[in-house]
Amino acid sequence: MNFSDSERIAGILETAGYEKTEALAKADVIVVTMCSIRQSAVDRIHSLVEKFNKIKQARKLQTTHYPLQTVLTGCVLKRDKNIFIEGFDYVLDIKDIAQLPKILKNKTSANTSQLCHDKDTKYLDIAPKHESKFTATVPIMTGCNNFCAYCVVPYTREREISRPAENIIKEVKNLVDNGYKEIWLLGQNVNSYRSQINTNKNSRIFANKISENSCVISFAKLLTLINQIPGEFWVRYTSSHPKDFKQDVISAMAEGNHISPYLNLPVQSGDNKVLKSMNRHYTVAQYKEKIKQLRKAIPNICLSTDIIVGFPGETKKQFENTVKLFKEIKYDMAYINKYSKRSGTLAYKLGDKILADEKKCREKTLNDVLRKTALANNKKYVGKELLVLIDSKKDNKYFGRTNTYKLVEVTSNKKGLVGNFIKVKITKANPWRLEAKIIN
Ligand code: SAH
Ligand code: SF4
Repeated sequence: MNFSDSERIAGILETAGYEKTEALAKADVIVVTMCSIRQSAVDRIHSLVEKFNKIKQARKLQTTHYPLQTVLTGCVLKRDKNIFIEGFDYVLDIKDIAQLPKILKNKTSANTSQLCHDKDTKYLDIAPKHESKFTATVPIMTGCNNFCAYCVVPYTREREISRPAENIIKEVKNLVDNGYKEIWLLGQNVNSYRSQINTNKNSRIFANKISENSCVISFAKLLTLINQIPGEFWVRYTSSHPKDFKQDVISAMAEGNHISPYLNLPVQSGDNKVLKSMNRHYTVAQYKEKIKQLRKAIPNICLSTDIIVGFPGETKKQFENTVKLFKEIKYDMAYINKYSKRSGTLAYKLGDKILADEKKCREKTLNDVLRKTALANNKKYVGKELLVLIDSKKDNKYFGRTNTYKLVEVTSNKKGLVGNFIKVKITKANPWRLEAKIIN
């Protein structure tokens, strides 16, 4: 989401006449889109402030002095806004970024938190400047209503609001028409996406697809509508919440030939008691049942998850339940996070007594299981012929992803493969990467 927001900020600044520079020291304006999920991300901002201050000092000594303006936005806790206003020229709510050029020009005021910001999703309609010519993110909603006990997102991004379906569909169609091949739909909890649509007004988009005059578009319906866009492209999405991930989305995925058979379904813990104190509203059995249904409908689905190790009070036995779940589900990938105590969240008062070394040890244990399951899953790919969307190149090696989001390395002297679908044959499996050769 922060990456996507940064592309919208770049879009606004470019329209206002700014150009991107790779060198910090040359910049007139630096905008930082920060993350507050873990304290370590917040701490990094302090070192950035020091860096920016050095640039400002050095500029003062130059004969052709041009000032540096620094802006902080993204996911910022109220408490941190008050701290960082000392280090940045402006601290701006993410929903106010359309006002950035005006603020920079007028040097409005140091603390912009008093700006009356849009409570809706209008800022998501700002045209982004995509870094890639073939892969793009499209936010479908912002905010979150779930208040998981460890998480700052509902405080930094406020309540959940869905973007109108017609705006999303138009944006995806436009991207596909312009050659984009991988579209990531974004939201903190995409499964609770809801928008009301007037089908008369949008007859061009919805002709013959929806009979009623007005109807509610769920996430599953949105996927189905996006799937009907003609072109050669894959749609992926993140994040899902297991409590809201239901059969309708499974069916839309199974039926949609553009919808990637890849799912990130964050479980966070394999222990019911921990899930309860995390405020997640599902049990391990319910989670496993959803995975079972998913695998039944889409046998080649690749699965990843998010985990927090060392949540307050997580006993060794409770952690062992997560290990057990990992062995059972056999994930392809997992984002394993060491618990970070966040001020203002429900879990804050539970303390953070599990030692850093113990968290590290639990992280390693899960990684060891994951390496084995990922390798076993990858071995099933050897000998298979499939399409890969090539996204980068280093020396004579190309890298890309399958529709199941598996990383593939292809050795080739051919030119111009980046950004294209290439047919390959998988020759070798590693835990985190498949090796392949091109087939003509
Ligand atoms: N909306 C997504 C998660 C967004 S945050 C969901 O519901 O799953 C991304 C991930 O960061 C989370 O899945 C969680 O594993 C991790 N995370 C969030 N808060 C954290 C914290 N306080 N400490 C460690 N990891 C955290
Ligand atoms: Fe955070 Fe939970 Fe919302 Fe995900 S669903 S963003 S973890 S509060």
